[in-house]
Amino acid sequence: MKYIDEFRDGGVARILAGKIAAAVEPGRSYRFMEFCGGHTHAISRYGLADLLPPAVRLIHGPGCPVCVLPIGRVDLAIDLALSRGVILCTYGDTLRVPASDGLSLLKAKARGADIRMVYSTLDALKIARDEPQREVVFFAIGFETTTPPTALAIQQAEREQLLNFSVLCCHVLTPAAIRAILDMPEASAGGAVALDGFIGPAHVSTVIGTRPYEFVAADYGKPVVIAGFEPLDVMQAILMLVRQVNQGRAAVENEFSRAVSREGNLKAQQRMAEVFELRSEFEWRGLGVVPASALQLREAYAAYDAERRFKLVYRPVPDNKACECAAILRGAKRPQECRIFGTVCTPENPVGSCMVSSEGACAAHYSYGRFRDTTDRVSA
Ligand code: SF4
Repeated sequence: MKYIDEFRDGGVARILAGKIAAAVEPGRSYRFMEFCGGHTHAISRYGLADLLPPAVRLIHGPGCPVCVLPIGRVDLAIDLALSRGVILCTYGDTLRVPASDGLSLLKAKARGADIRMVYSTLDALKIARDEPQREVVFFAIGFETTTPPTALAIQQAEREQLLNFSVLCCHVLTPAAIRAILDMPEASAGGAVALDGFIGPAHVSTVIGTRPYEFVAADYGKPVVIAGFEPLDVMQAILMLVRQVNQGRAAVENEFSRAVSREGNLKAQQRMAEVFELRSEFEWRGLGVVPASALQLREAYAAYDAERRFKLVYRPVPDNKACECAAILRGAKRPQECRIFGTVCTPENPVGSCMVSSEGACAAHYSYGRFRDTTDRVSA
C-alpha cells in the first residue's frame, strides 16, 4: 500500500540504523522523548529501540489520549451515565480506563448505565437525533487530532437545534504539555536539562502544523523533529535529531512533510477556534494541573456544554498507590519499573491508564515484550 509499505522496509531501516550509529559521537548520549503514543506503539511493535546504538535512548512521553485522562474526569462521565440517566457516548479505549471505586465506564455499563461506544462524533449525533427524549453526552477526549470533529459536531447540533446533545469536553493541547515537561524538576539534572530533543507528533501536527513547537527550540534550545508513525519515519527522525545535537543546533524540522506543513490545517484550526477557548487550567494524569493546557466550550455554545448543563463539579482523585503511570507519563520511570507491571496489571486487567490503550507505554511494552534496557528515565 502506498505510503505504508515503503515506510516499513526492513532493509532501509537497517541502513538508517547504520547511519545513526555512524553519526553518534563517542562519549556522547542522546536522549529523545517521543511525545506521542503512536510513536511509542511503533517503537515497540517494530523493535526500533533494538536497532539503535546504546548511546541513543528513547523516553516515552505523555501523548496517549486515554493515558493522560485523570480519574476525576472519568468519574464525571460515570456519574452522568450512572446517576443522571444520560446516554454517554465515547470512543472505545476510554471504556476501560480505571476510575474511582474500582469502576470504569465498562463496569458502569455492566451495572446498567447506558454507555455506548462510538466510532465518530457523527454516531453520537445520530443517537441524539434518534432518541430526542433522552439526554446524549459525548465524552470528548484527545489532543488536537480529535478536537476538530468535536467542534463540527457541536456546530452541527446547533444547526439542527439538537438540544438533547452535549459534550463533556476533555480535549487537551500538545504544546502546553511539552512545555510542562520541559519545566518540571525531573527534566533538569544539576541544572542541565536531560532531554536532548523531541520526536514530535504526526497526526496532531497535521492539524496544528510545525509552528507551535518553535518555542521548544527558541526558548529551551531543544530540537524537535515532526515524524510520521511508520518505522522508517521514526528512524529518520532520530537520525535528524542526532545530527542537530551534533551540530549544536536546535530547530523544528519536519520529517513528515508528506502530511504536515508549517501552518497546519487552517480550516480545522478555524473550527476549533470558533467553538473552543482555553481553559485556565486542567489536571493531567502525570503532569498535574497545567495552566492553559486544555479547551472548553465558548459561551456561544454553552447550551452544548455538559459541564454547565449538568452543573458538574470536578474533583481530583489520586491514582492507585501501586501505579506508576504518573512517573511514566513524565518520562521519569519505565513501565517495567512498576512492581505490578505484567502481573497484577495487564491489558486484560489494567490497574492504570497506561495499560489500557495500544498507545500506552505499559501496554506497548507488555504486548511486544520490549523489556530490554533501551529506554531510560529523564533524570537517570
Ligand atoms: S503497569 Fe499498570 S499499574 Fe503499573 S504503571 Fe503501568 S498502567 Fe500503571
